[in-house]
Amino acid sequence: MIVSIRSALADGARTLGANGVTEPRLEASSLLGHATSRDRAFIITHADDALTPEELETLRSLVARRAAGEPLQYLTGHQEFFKLDFEVSPEVLIPRPETEIIVEVALEFLGDKPAPIFADIGTGSGCIAISLLNELSAARAVATDASPAALRVAQRNADRHAVTDRLTLIESDCFSALDPVGKFDLIVSNPPYVSDRELETIQREVRYEPRAALAGGPDGLDVIRILLHEAPWFLRSGSHFVFEVGFGQDLTVEQLIDREVWDLIEIRRDLQSVPRTVILRKG
Ligand code: GLN
Repeated sequence: MIVSIRSALADGARTLGANGVTEPRLEASSLLGHATSRDRAFIITHADDALTPEELETLRSLVARRAAGEPLQYLTGHQEFFKLDFEVSPEVLIPRPETEIIVEVALEFLGDKPAPIFADIGTGSGCIAISLLNELSAARAVATDASPAALRVAQRNADRHAVTDRLTLIESDCFSALDPVGKFDLIVSNPPYVSDRELETIQREVRYEPRAALAGGPDGLDVIRILLHEAPWFLRSGSHFVFEVGFGQDLTVEQLIDREVWDLIEIRRDLQSVPRTVILRKG
């Protein structure tokens, strides 16, 4: 049977829509692009072209997996973040738009420094560190992750965006493998912060993401407590620590901040007005 791009798209979108995907046409089009190695413009302008049986088979299997809940980005293997396209796999968290705030804030602090060095704790795909290195051509970074598999993804993303010579990737649980003698101009982190209770009710897509990148213990703040306690050893005085928190955690996090050590500059809100990005300065 001959199936055109148009009808394969309609069919895929119908299946996705019937299975709770909120933007079924858009996602069907992404999956079709992936199955055929074509971009969106080609798909739009060649709607009457026939798919090969192999393309159709690949598309149907991708649509079935997406309909069952697998995130689109794990099926296509990539996600845009800030200005770059990043490889993602189930070994790493899928970069979220709200995490771009960390990059924006970091640029405010590092932008006028001649050769800054910063650390990214729990780098995952590497999206924060690599975006910053891409913006700041004289910057260098140390990025850690407890997962060797995640570090391999980060390494490929660093290669892809040509920042490998300025990025040191280290397998480390928080700061444990870092030497506190070297001091950073800035530390950034998108740590795991989902509480045990929230983990039970998370969106089905999020269940495919690495638990270690999400789970922050009973109240979600286990890792944030460690970072608040240890980051001062690795920061120059007057330098900043910028990290993300979850919905509704801002007031509790404020109470965890030791005011003898840190000045709370701001907790910046994301586009949904959720207090999201904590900005601290070491006194
Ligand atoms: N933002 C993610 C979520 O909503 C959590 C990411 C994290 O724990 N750092 O599930």
